[in-house]
Amino acid sequence: MSMNFTERIQRVEPSATIAISNLASELEADGVDVVDLSVGEPDFPTPEPIVDAAKDAMDAGHTGYAPSNGIPALRSAIADSLGERGLSYDPEEIMVTPGGKQALFEVVQTLVEDGSEVVLLDPAWVSYEAMVKIAGGSLKRVDLTPHDFQLEPALPELAETVSAQTDLMIVNSPSNPSGAVFSETALDGVRDLAVEHDVTVIADEMYDRITYGVEQTSLGTLDGMADRTVTVNGFSKAYSMTGWRLGYFAAPGDLVDQADKLQSHSVTCATNFVQHAGVAALTECEEYVTEMRDAFAERRDMLVDLFDDHGVDVPVGDGAFYMMVPVADDDQQWCENALSEAHVATVPGSAFGTPGYARLSYAASTERLKEGVDRLADNGYL
Ligand code: PMP
Repeated sequence: MSMNFTERIQRVEPSATIAISNLASELEADGVDVVDLSVGEPDFPTPEPIVDAAKDAMDAGHTGYAPSNGIPALRSAIADSLGERGLSYDPEEIMVTPGGKQALFEVVQTLVEDGSEVVLLDPAWVSYEAMVKIAGGSLKRVDLTPHDFQLEPALPELAETVSAQTDLMIVNSPSNPSGAVFSETALDGVRDLAVEHDVTVIADEMYDRITYGVEQTSLGTLDGMADRTVTVNGFSKAYSMTGWRLGYFAAPGDLVDQADKLQSHSVTCATNFVQHAGVAALTECEEYVTEMRDAFAERRDMLVDLFDDHGVDVPVGDGAFYMMVPVADDDQQWCENALSEAHVATVPGSAFGTPGYARLSYAASTERLKEGVDRLADNGYL
């Protein structure tokens, strides 16, 4: 028997990173020491108060289903934390999800349908495109690459792209993969266009706690944006909790109610005791966040210097823990070769809509980062 797969699932390609991670696994299985700079997760353990809170929650019996939209204690801690950032949401306007990815998936499914038009800023995190395509929407893209990945100088292009046909914009600042933190003027420009053309905006603020010397402005705080912004965030990056799967979105209550249908008919809820741990993350872990941020900042500066020593000018951003390094036109091939010959794993920029670059994560120790750059240089990749 041959199964018939839906047209919907065939709209999306496997991730362009798969070839790289398969090759890395093969090399490692052969005993090769690979410097893996391809990963999108902090290299720190989850802070102890979070682990302890999860254990306590399990011991206390929080092992059954939780309310589909999240336990009240976590929704209220999230509302408080968003409040500190100038965003005013009631706990009822928050949906706790198993990871920020699920939050984005639900929001896209709820807002995008056949014929919907969605505007992305390239380079864009890999899953936005797939989520929009699965939902039936079409994409329009504005390339920030010629502007060192900044949005402000690309506002005229954005203004030409956003129109009465646009249903949704997705703005991710700090950005994965460029690390760019968009200026307040840039976000004002997004606001003006969103208001003029009545567009909903997803503000993916997954890296808002990981910025260096700049403050991230939340789109939802700007005049006219409160009722058209969906703020997405999570615990993976700021609290080194990638495997715990905990995230959320905050939005006007009717969107939360609609998305709750999807959540309750699919994943049911985020894991109960993990949600209790999430409360500890938001209330007890400020110094851990600062410590990790300081370490990332130090590594970023070191990497910029190292690339500079090799004459490579990297347009480095002020947030997240990634940088886009200019490589060869065929970035996929460059990444495969750099991995098989120099044993350094990076992600091809084309996975993010930006060929000619490789994304490098500096969520690795300074020794490994140095080793990675040395290997690239010694093998003629810089
Ligand atoms: N948005 C961005 C920009 C990301 O980089 C990631 C993780 N790579 C996510 C959302 C999803 O994160 P998670 O599902 O782990 O919360």
